[in-house]
Amino acid sequence: MELQQLAFVKQYFRAKRQVYLDHNATTAVSGHVLRTMHRVLKHRYGNPSSLYKIARQSAEIIEQARRDAAAAMHAAPHEVYFTGCATESNNAVLKSVSRHFHPGKTRIVSTPIEHPSVTSTLDFLTTQGITVEYCPVDSHGRVDPADIEKLIDDRTFLVCCMLANNETGTVQDIAAITAAAHRRGALVLSDCVQAFGKIPVDVHALGVDYASFSAHKLHGPKGVGALYVRSGGPFTPLLHGGHQEDGMRAGTESIHNIAGFGAACQRIDRLLSRTERTGRLKSRLIGRLRKIKPDCVINSPEEDCLPNTLSVTFPDVSNAELMAALDYHGVAVSAGSACSTQEKRPSHVLKAIGLSDKAAQETIRISLGSDTTGGDIRYAAKVLGEYMDGRLPFVNTMTLSQLNESVLFDRQTYILDVRPQFMRKLLKSLPNSHEASFVSIEKYVHHIPRDKHILVVCQRGNLSHIVAYYLKSKGFPWVTNLRGGICGWDTRCGDLYERFAGRDITALQPA
Ligand code: PLP
Repeated sequence: MELQQLAFVKQYFRAKRQVYLDHNATTAVSGHVLRTMHRVLKHRYGNPSSLYKIARQSAEIIEQARRDAAAAMHAAPHEVYFTGCATESNNAVLKSVSRHFHPGKTRIVSTPIEHPSVTSTLDFLTTQGITVEYCPVDSHGRVDPADIEKLIDDRTFLVCCMLANNETGTVQDIAAITAAAHRRGALVLSDCVQAFGKIPVDVHALGVDYASFSAHKLHGPKGVGALYVRSGGPFTPLLHGGHQEDGMRAGTESIHNIAGFGAACQRIDRLLSRTERTGRLKSRLIGRLRKIKPDCVINSPEEDCLPNTLSVTFPDVSNAELMAALDYHGVAVSAGSACSTQEKRPSHVLKAIGLSDKAAQETIRISLGSDTTGGDIRYAAKVLGEYMDGRLPFVNTMTLSQLNESVLFDRQTYILDVRPQFMRKLLKSLPNSHEASFVSIEKYVHHIPRDKHILVVCQRGNLSHIVAYYLKSKGFPWVTNLRGGICGWDTRCGDLYERFAGRDITALQPA
């Protein structure tokens, strides 16, 4: 084969390559789960609350899934309840236990690195008369059980600490935290979502009173979670209605999702048997990253860490721009958690472990899966290395100081606002912009003129960077991203914003 043809073939396969390294955000549904769910959807439509045979068959599917989930987390089946997601499980425990103890006891002790489904619920509870004390963590996100114990007083009814962190992978000594809490008469909720399927989870050995789980982190479906409630642990339902789930969670059960969760749990030993290999791949990746950028900082601890999770800071490299470049080359990673990717503030977890705002915005999370290969790691490191060396095509960036009236009203510039609908309500866009939602950008491409300069904007300049790369891959010759986005346009270009924001906006129609 001619050298030129070879280069073309290499380029072709490279453009097609997808390397998914965001398994802490979610995982692909496994074949076993898919087959189980398909069978249930097709043949088991009976309402489990009815009494006849097809209903009893559906009820038995749920009970089998409960046995499978209980075995995977080392609980008794009657201690496991299915919910709509782990967010619901966390909400249900925090609200129900607070209701149970308040006003006799009013304090919860937690950590500053919990998932938003915990932190936002705690924020809500502070409006209802609950006080929350946050135990500081060290630079790897570790909580010292002795520090937790010091914060527990006679008014404390609950300690809430996750088993493994979704951003850094840090694993906490929950057994010691539980022992300390119980000594002082407090109950314990542990969010086990990220640990489940990556390290062994034994709720009885941990001694926790409540634990939350989610199916989609271990190759199960989205939209189903589980809640462990220790026998006799106080709990009042979040949802009121029917008597499903022993009266703990009203609403007709999502049988196919629950069956999918059970099927995923049946394969948990297989997942756990691969974690050593995953850990070796992660170490290899760290070695490569240190060669590529010797000043990179590994935020995840070496010990007591999920084997698949790596939080790494690349000084002076914007994580949004790096992620967009990696995405262009088929590599999926995230900045902080999936939940914080579109947020305005830097990740609260990275701030809690002591990173500055700048360092937090230079940090990415790489999370490997059980099927990640050595080739995936080599490819991701190669793309990253080329990006750091400046060997990848860049998308042009416009800073807010370059944004002036002649750009806004230049006939050769086509402004594309890719914010989702709800964000457009928060702040008004640049004048003469064209609105097209980020999530279905492919459907708008035919509207976008190829002979103009495309200036892509979004709320913060992150999503727009990904779209700018996408348009480049579609052959648009002049694409520029507005760094800082509409938030910056509002705060840094106040005068322009006052005069022109929201004028002459065109909503594009999807194809
Ligand atoms: N807790 C942790 C630690 C998580 O990482 C997540 C999801 O990212 C959740 C809770 C929420 O899970 P779900 O998506 O099932 O609501």
